[in-house]
Amino acid sequence: MVEIPQSSPRIFVDYADGHTAIAHRVELRLGAEALSILPPAAPAIIWPYIDVHRMPDQAGRAGMVLAKGDGAARLYIPANQYELSDALRAACPPRKDTPAARQMRKKLFGFSLLAVGSVVLILFFLLPLMAIQLARVLPVEGEKALGDATFEQVRVALDDFGDTGLRVCDAPAGRKALDVMAARLLKHVDLPFPATIHVLDSELINAFALPGGHVVLFRGLLEAAESPDEVAAVLAHELGHVYYHHATEGALRSAGSIGVLGLLFGDFAGGTVALFLADQLINARYSQDAETQADEFAHELLLDAQISPEALAVFFQRLKELSGEQSGLAAHLSSHPELQSRMEAALAVVPSEAVQFAPSISAGQWQSLKRICK
Ligand SMILES: [Zn+2]
Repeated sequence: MVEIPQSSPRIFVDYADGHTAIAHRVELRLGAEALSILPPAAPAIIWPYIDVHRMPDQAGRAGMVLAKGDGAARLYIPANQYELSDALRAACPPRKDTPAARQMRKKLFGFSLLAVGSVVLILFFLLPLMAIQLARVLPVEGEKALGDATFEQVRVALDDFGDTGLRVCDAPAGRKALDVMAARLLKHVDLPFPATIHVLDSELINAFALPGGHVVLFRGLLEAAESPDEVAAVLAHELGHVYYHHATEGALRSAGSIGVLGLLFGDFAGGTVALFLADQLINARYSQDAETQADEFAHELLLDAQISPEALAVFFQRLKELSGEQSGLAAHLSSHPELQSRMEAALAVVPSEAVQFAPSISAGQWQSLKRICK
């Protein structure tokens, strides 16, 4: 018997039907005796708990993988679905071994050890080592396609209330203001691909870069900022990550994730790749070096655009003050190095002599930008 409170939101997980390697988003319902898997445009698939067992996750993701009988179909339960995982753990036994199966597995184990060993070597050692080099030599179109797919997955992954994805905020006047701000910065930088800047309708105070030139700002960040220059400063920082391919590097470095395999085999548009990367990219924690690089990039870019780098320090200060109040706060923006030293670094590059700074956008445009989600 499985109890999931009726008030629970609808649950969506990934399902691979065993015929193709690509996982699809499906709705999952837990009945008294069976799981119902509801693909968007196909009949429901029923898995009686008695036939369902947990599998070791060969891709090494944290989370739970379920299979039915000896079938090749798999359900992937994300690690953060605690309640669901507990219920499923109670309902579905781990796979039971028959002596014949054990024998067979032993044989296979011997044979496959070498193969597994070489894949592990590639995934866990070579790829991470090569992430930086790889990120630079990936075809621009590939990186762009990966970014496009990831952006869609990010929208869906962040949507707590439905499966349509967070809304892209695009009120015309706000959009125009954002374009003006972006153009002011982009004039001074030669990016590997055109930057695409999005605002998503979420109260998270966060921003991040995705592969292929996508930069995502959240409504919460626009609301928290008290001047457009603070937004411009964050944008400049994210453009730094774009410039240095940090998001792509991060994706490549997350070896062991199926994303790397998909990337290698060209499954750019496949949901599998993007889905598992989405979470990592939203909560991107780049190395200290990468953050410092992006900060320094922002300092220079802001100065070139005649916007005071002080704005970056002001925004970091705001994050510091808010960080006690909001848990989902700027996972990436407030990551190491310490905000304090990042603030000091930004202030240190503010020129001491009188320099003509000009607001990144006009007061009227700023009002429009703040209302871009309205
Ligand atoms: Zn950053």
